Amino acid sequence: MIDTHSHIYSAEFDDDRPQVMQRAIDAGVTHIVLPNENLESVQRLLDTQSQWPENISLALGLHPEEVRDDWRETLDQLEQQFVRHQWVAIGEVGIDLYWDKTYKHQQMQALERQLGWCVDRHLPFIIHCREALDEVLDVLGQFRGQMPQGVFHCFTGTPQEVDCIRQVGDFYFGIGGVLTFKKSTLPEALPVITLDRILLETDSPYMAPVPHRGQRNESAFVADVARCMAQVLDITLDEVDRVTTANAQALRLV
Ligand SMILES: [Zn+2]
Repeated sequence: MIDTHSHIYSAEFDDDRPQVMQRAIDAGVTHIVLPNENLESVQRLLDTQSQWPENISLALGLHPEEVRDDWRETLDQLEQQFVRHQWVAIGEVGIDLYWDKTYKHQQMQALERQLGWCVDRHLPFIIHCREALDEVLDVLGQFRGQMPQGVFHCFTGTPQEVDCIRQVGDFYFGIGGVLTFKKSTLPEALPVITLDRILLETDSPYMAPVPHRGQRNESAFVADVARCMAQVLDITLDEVDRVTTANAQALRLV
């Protein structure tokens, strides 16, 4: 199994990161993808990867909630990291208008520039989209004809939203703990997405699945998401594991 989205490098794991990593490996997680958040987090990503180089790959990007008036300079500085290290994706990038719409236009411009990195460097994107689907699809729409491949991480939407996204591109959908929540629309959306466009993820330390809901999430719990997915799609856990792993490989996250 592959956890395609974890913040295991964050301070929430400073006390027990090796144990968390071992539990993930014991649960069958072979690989974890770490998305970047801001300038300061870059070194944490690199330090974490250097401890488990076989199991961890890194994405470079500016999280939409970190976009401020100085986003251009921040992206200039992040861009220097391309020559220093290897990155498998651009992320996490996107638009988040849930708490605050102040930087909506800056978020859209920062997303556009970072999607340009995907095109120039032939890397997939990891998109964070909250209360901003129209805006994200607007920006992606500007790349018609040279559309990068990528994943809508922490997808929690409806079958209709899957269709809207597909009108722009044939993207992947990152599915995590929300699938296991009672009021989730994902059990209806998954058959529309189909298994060949699904990636497993935790978004740890957030979004812990049932039966860990409300606790700190960790990569080992991706197995709970996979079990729930097998039930919803009426297939075996083995098949969920095999196809989602192949999907992450197809997207070259691993
Ligand atoms: Zn994230």
